[in-house]
Amino acid sequence: MKKERVSIVQCKSYKQKEVDKTVLKAFNLAKITIPKRKKVFIKPNVVGNFGKNQTAITTSPEIIEAICKILKKNNCKIYIGDSPFTNAVDSFRASKIEKIAKKYGKLIIFEQDKLIKIRDNKAKILKNFNFSKTLLNADVIINVPKLKTHQLTKFTGALKNLYGCIPGGMKQRLHLKASTEKKLSNLLVDVYQNIKPEINIIDGIIGMEGEGPTAGEPKKVGYILASKSAVSLDVVSSKLIGYNPRKILAIKEAVKRKLGSFKYELVGLEKLPLIKFKKPFVRDKLTKKIKDRFLQRPILVDEKKCIKCGLCSRKCPAKAIKLTPYPVVDKKKCIRCFCCMEICPQHALKLKE
Ligand code: SF4
Ligand code: SF4
Repeated sequence: MKKERVSIVQCKSYKQKEVDKTVLKAFNLAKITIPKRKKVFIKPNVVGNFGKNQTAITTSPEIIEAICKILKKNNCKIYIGDSPFTNAVDSFRASKIEKIAKKYGKLIIFEQDKLIKIRDNKAKILKNFNFSKTLLNADVIINVPKLKTHQLTKFTGALKNLYGCIPGGMKQRLHLKASTEKKLSNLLVDVYQNIKPEINIIDGIIGMEGEGPTAGEPKKVGYILASKSAVSLDVVSSKLIGYNPRKILAIKEAVKRKLGSFKYELVGLEKLPLIKFKKPFVRDKLTKKIKDRFLQRPILVDEKKCIKCGLCSRKCPAKAIKLTPYPVVDKKKCIRCFCCMEICPQHALKLKE
């Protein structure tokens, strides 16, 4: 498999002018052909409404705007869409991406769009998909993830961002089918072999370390990276924050299925810098026994933070959370998917220390 180019360009702030310049440079260095007069679908990472933590959780609106400006010059028809975990309208508004979508094109909320069924007999976890018609009908898909750690898959970048192409509550239900790191990683690759973006660009200006993708801490990185290949982009981005890409199961599986390679050609910098992120609790170096003990730690609620909104209970795929009025997790039913921790707007759910 040929080495794909991955560009890395420094970008110290979210000032629109700086981001505009950096995005264009990252595309050019990666030899990405900018679409002309095409239907282009931009897929950011819009998880939910997380107030002041939004910058470290969601793809920055400045990057989305920079991409839109480039596409508009080339007379492209622009669609921007995702399927956030929490209320979609509220999430897109909070991310400020709603405004950009209205300014340059159209906002698509996957679960509100017409869906098209796809069957994939080669998929390992899910053979039947329902994807948004607008997404499938696009000439070009631009995948715009955020650089973060992830409590289940360790790292979230280009491959993981495509999980958001699964509309609405289906995502939570799928966690029942794919409740382990391996199964979820296989599922991500199942999605990837059906939705293969032509352009991938990651927001690494401010990322999230620790208990990502939503309950960690913001981390300044100062780079934007781009590639035609989602796999190559993930290889380089995960390495940048201190992971061995061969230990990220989604990347490993994608390479195994010949959808990408661990080899790449870095452009923009001579050497890839290392900006070590604090890792989530599933650490490679732990023995299986200790890892299992970590995974069995109960999920507790911080009653000072919890606003009793019930979102965790409504979104729990295993119906394991009862409100009393604070959430209580039934350990027997819980499948450890961590959706509840991911979607809680107050970050009130934590694993017991
Ligand atoms: S833990 Fe979070 S999601 Fe659950 S009820 Fe409390 S605030 Fe809402
Ligand atoms: S309680 Fe939380 S971790 Fe357990 S199944 Fe429900 S959403 Fe997943």
